[in-house]
Amino acid sequence: MTNIDTKCVQGVYNPANGEPRVMPIVQSTTFKYGSSDEMGKLFDLEAEGYFYTRLQNPTNDLVAGKIAELEGGVAGMLTSSGQAANFFAVFNICECGDHIVSSSAIYGGTFNLFGVTMKKMGIECTFIDPDSSEEEIQAAIKPNTKAIFGETISNPSLVVLDIEKYAKVAHKNGIPLIIDNTFATPINCRPIEFGADIVTHSTTKYMDGHASTVGGCIVDSGNFDWMTHKDKFPGLTTPDESYHGLVYAEKFGKLAYITKATVQLMRDLGSIQSPQHAFYINLGLESLHLRMKKHCENALAVAKYLESNDKVAWVNCSMLESNKYYELSKKYMPNGTCGVISFGLKCSREDTKKFMDSLKLCAIVTHVADARTCVLHPASHTHRQLSDEQLIEAGVSPDLIRFSCGIEDAKDIIADIEQALKNVTV
Ligand SMILES: *Cc1c(COP(=O)(O)O)cnc(C)c1O
Repeated sequence: MTNIDTKCVQGVYNPANGEPRVMPIVQSTTFKYGSSDEMGKLFDLEAEGYFYTRLQNPTNDLVAGKIAELEGGVAGMLTSSGQAANFFAVFNICECGDHIVSSSAIYGGTFNLFGVTMKKMGIECTFIDPDSSEEEIQAAIKPNTKAIFGETISNPSLVVLDIEKYAKVAHKNGIPLIIDNTFATPINCRPIEFGADIVTHSTTKYMDGHASTVGGCIVDSGNFDWMTHKDKFPGLTTPDESYHGLVYAEKFGKLAYITKATVQLMRDLGSIQSPQHAFYINLGLESLHLRMKKHCENALAVAKYLESNDKVAWVNCSMLESNKYYELSKKYMPNGTCGVISFGLKCSREDTKKFMDSLKLCAIVTHVADARTCVLHPASHTHRQLSDEQLIEAGVSPDLIRFSCGIEDAKDIIADIEQALKNVTV
């Protein structure tokens, strides 16, 4: 199976004669074994098999496997949310006293996770300008830095990250690059092909695509050699006492990172996806390739309309030739970026609200990246915890309207914007 469209529809799950055509939901917390010894071996990781859904479930594994295949990785793990995915991705290789470097242009929730919550756990984060030069990225690296983090195309600032540049600096320092690929999805960009070592997702967005299911996923490329940097990653390269001294990188090779995340972090922290919800995510994955194309077409049409409208102060969509990130997005996302764009109006903050309240087809919701067009004002919603300074740092100006183009007819989306703009005076 070589083409990504086919992988979306039929990847990983391959029923044998007489088995269900559709991937089954294994709605069971536990799995039965014939002898106590067999069960014991599972707990010691001496044998492979399912025993408790908090660690692994066949439905979840199929869906994680499909996402890993789409990304070109060796293994994946589903999590209960995108937040859990990013937390586990970092916490799997960091402990108290460690440090990470992150692009400052990231999702507000991740910004809080790294800047506030993980700081309380003793893991520090230095945020850097996403457009930093190699030298500037290098300057943020410390002896205890364990990873660099960024988003392919950031939510909501829509900054396109120069993944190859970040990967180069990461690898020069013997640390992995973690990329949150939520907005681009593997349909539009596969960060591993550009040197990313670990890819994360909020599957809540385009992968589910219907605003029905919160979820996340971590994919490992299998490319980072933990043993070469043994001293930096003791969690993977020294004995885990909770498994009788097993060393993940020795025992599991390329699968070490995901295995550790599964049998250690999931075991202890338990943020699993439910098999029922994994099933919904898979339904989304089956049409991801079709939807991403339509999301991008609509976003470009709406962005062009806005760019030509007198009441619009600015439009941010890197598919527009006038955009600062046009060249980078052509390199990393030649077939289109995503359905999310942003813009500002030449009017007061009050009128911006009035514009949003006047929309009929496009709804005000916290969500982005689903089939229905939706709109949000980050400064008063998702990013309201951030100070003005932090807002600017995260690339979110106070007048920014985040506009997530759905897969309706673009003409209807534009007509809705047009009627709402009538209520705005500039
Ligand atoms: C939404 C989002 C997250 C968080 O995901 P949840 O599923 O809401 O927990 C992380 N990263 C990006 C880029 C997101 O858009």
